[in-house]
Amino acid sequence: MKNLRVIDAHAHVGEFGGWANVRLTAQEMIADMESFNISKTVVCMIPNGIVREAVQRYPDRLVGFVWVNPHEGQKAVDEVKQAVNDWGFRGIKLHPLFHAFIPSDGVVLPIMELAREFKIPVFFHTGHPPFSLPWQIGEVAEIFPDIPIIMGHMGHGHGCYIHGTIMVAKKYPNLYLETSGMPMHTKIKEAVEQLGPGRVMYGSDVPFHHHSVEMQRVKVSGLDENGLRDVFYNSAAKLLGIE
Ligand SMILES: [Zn+2]
Repeated sequence: MKNLRVIDAHAHVGEFGGWANVRLTAQEMIADMESFNISKTVVCMIPNGIVREAVQRYPDRLVGFVWVNPHEGQKAVDEVKQAVNDWGFRGIKLHPLFHAFIPSDGVVLPIMELAREFKIPVFFHTGHPPFSLPWQIGEVAEIFPDIPIIMGHMGHGHGCYIHGTIMVAKKYPNLYLETSGMPMHTKIKEAVEQLGPGRVMYGSDVPFHHHSVEMQRVKVSGLDENGLRDVFYNSAAKLLGIE
């Protein structure tokens, strides 16, 4: 377990104020990565410029995902194009709850078309009604079977949604699960068993959570060493084209 390599598939730099009241600098993120043997971290934030700066400063360690609000129409489209073409970002982050849209709504389609054009994955926050239930993400997966879609938090805090996430991912092979903030360690092993290798990936969602807690849940999930390597590294490495 000591030499277990890790990719963190979900993290943020910057500050979330209001009720969240959490923050993390790029420097602090890198220090945490050193402590927990994390080789790469997928980072997103609004505004995206914070991520661009962080990725420019640590290009070997950080992978940018561009986070847009589909309601902004052309502005969102332009932002995705700029982030991928000019800044080297490698995925799109969408948060249906935060920006109040139904995942398969018409406003989302131009963003999904861009993901197809650029051949990059789309990360959807998953696990809160009324906008980010697993079955709603399933609708997008059905419309865009050729686009890899990561279901962030794999259903989050609600047992029924966690179960639903695994069932929906079983139906659509382009769906991937990310583990952050999901309380049931047993469901991580169950998801790997149900979906096979390459479909479940570790994420921390720092600064909302801490690696020591998030990693422990994966470690005690009951997975064998191959399963742990799959969740902690191989799934995300394959999806993101990391060696
Ligand atoms: Zn997050």
